[in-house]
Amino acid sequence: MTHGSDWRHSDRMHGPPPNSAAHNPSRQSIAGRWVIPVEGSPIEHGIIEIENGRIVALHQNPAEDAVSFGDAVIVPGLINAHTHLEFSSLEQPLAADSFAAWIRAVVAHRRTRSISNAAAAKIGLHESAASGTVTVGEIATKGWSGELFADTDLRAVIFRELLALHPDRIPGQLSIASEHLEPAQESGESGPVFGLSPHAPYSVHPELFREVCGLAAARSAPIAFHLAETREELQLLDSSTGPLVDLFREMGFWIDGQIEAGTRPLDYLQEMARAPQGIVIHGNYLSDSEIEFLAEHSNLTVVYCPRTHHFFRHAPHPWLKLHERGVRVALGTDSRASNPDLSLWNEIVFLHERFPDVAPALLLQMATRNGAGGLGIAEETGSIVPGKAADLTVIQPAHRDDRDAFAGLLSSGSRVVAAMRGGKWIQSARLRR
Ligand SMILES: [Zn+2]
Repeated sequence: MTHGSDWRHSDRMHGPPPNSAAHNPSRQSIAGRWVIPVEGSPIEHGIIEIENGRIVALHQNPAEDAVSFGDAVIVPGLINAHTHLEFSSLEQPLAADSFAAWIRAVVAHRRTRSISNAAAAKIGLHESAASGTVTVGEIATKGWSGELFADTDLRAVIFRELLALHPDRIPGQLSIASEHLEPAQESGESGPVFGLSPHAPYSVHPELFREVCGLAAARSAPIAFHLAETREELQLLDSSTGPLVDLFREMGFWIDGQIEAGTRPLDYLQEMARAPQGIVIHGNYLSDSEIEFLAEHSNLTVVYCPRTHHFFRHAPHPWLKLHERGVRVALGTDSRASNPDLSLWNEIVFLHERFPDVAPALLLQMATRNGAGGLGIAEETGSIVPGKAADLTVIQPAHRDDRDAFAGLLSSGSRVVAAMRGGKWIQSARLRR
């Protein structure tokens, strides 16, 4: 490694290296103290060879022209499997003393905010990139902008939110769903992937849910659904009573008799399993039989949102049990309406603090490979292996340990120093504390 190619010694101290390599822009090498590929063991003094945006080799042989990150650790590009970027202009989560009160605050925010949906999403994309996230699983609503996602440096899976409890609104929501999947054929390798998100059992008519699952299956589109999020939701499904029913009745959304008594999250999981990939958002209150069902269906993934879960003071999340049963668990931030920021890295630092006995390797896998599997893009990203896109996040650990790639990595003193998507440095991923 020559001194001149070591960007840490260059005058570009406040950002990742430029994208125009001097000699052959289609070919580049990147070196770190450790490379943690997530698939396979960590490689000390690892070199990642990239050609035309794809990883072609991973080795330890010195490379003269490698861009060296010194003591930093290179991991697969972080994947935030669940967010709603439309709330990204919020400076702090919406305060509420119950889930029903929080929904009320979200509805009020949507009605009164002065910023457009697209402008807020732009802020969120920038924040995501700046915190080292390379892929987002975004729930897009009315007014979302296709151009915004075409322009972004980030990889995106865009799920169109669908909401309707009234049967009369089902056809309209189905045509929105169908239209959203139209660009799928044209978006190509680098464009976004399009999916569908029927919102939640309490906001989607069961018939609409079935139809959307069928559409996702027919069009090979991924699906994302908020499920088993609160006890209030379980009560609503079981007996059409409780604070959520009271709230929706007051708001004029609720219609008696739409949801059969004794309905369980399992009924929804059985429908979801028809989609090629299904994301169960939250799953905070999944029962044992639901966990077993998930274990038997590898196309279903649970996305745990640790700090959002903490914000609502839920009962402990079953993520470790899910993992032990072989269910894929990915991570999400959810939105700034329930989280102080959009940093997926901060989610694993938070988990590591609370679960110091859980192997950091598992937390990193949840933040990368499991997200890719859940979003249906595992062939493209999620681990550092030849053939996949060069999606990388570079972390400066709080302290160095020559024997352990993970030492100090997930501590709060570590920081993201750069991120790359498909061989291109994400220019907003600045050096930051
Ligand atoms: Zn959500």
